[in-house]
Amino acid sequence: MAGVFEGFRPDMRVRSVMEIDLADLRKRGYIGLMLDLDNTLLPWKDLNIPIESKAWLETSKKLGMKPCIISNTHHPNRLMKIADQLQIPAIGCALKPDKRGFHRAAEIVGCEIDQTVVVGDQLLTDILGGNRAGAYTILVNPMHNREFLGTKVSRMIERLIFAVLREPHRV
Ligand SMILES: [Mg+2]
Repeated sequence: MAGVFEGFRPDMRVRSVMEIDLADLRKRGYIGLMLDLDNTLLPWKDLNIPIESKAWLETSKKLGMKPCIISNTHHPNRLMKIADQLQIPAIGCALKPDKRGFHRAAEIVGCEIDQTVVVGDQLLTDILGGNRAGAYTILVNPMHNREFLGTKVSRMIERLIFAVLREPHRV
């Protein structure tokens, strides 16, 4: 049964981006850092990136990694404001789990997809899409429980998939 759902299994799970060992990823050859926005880098609808997320991103840049935001958001103005704040490229309306957005992101930052890490809080978009693209996938716990209605529905489906994969709902 779990076989059919393997595409949803993240390669790594952490509570938040701050727990990701960037130096270790870099040592393992990863360069591209494809980041989901909402509930991964900041709470949904917020405009200000928390200082911890900013510091973490700065560390990644210092290590020579190339971050890029990849979001399904339909609010490009908000996305671009945030990307400007962070001085990193961003792709909106990415249609994750479509893998094309991840390939485009890899092209933008100038690395191969197998040198790419995808970080996000949703199995159905970030993790499935990242796995399909052939990236290394890291699932974070959502930053906040405030969510888009459609996401609340996705969370119910996630619970079922986690059960089949015998993975905890949150780490
Ligand atoms: Mg998200």
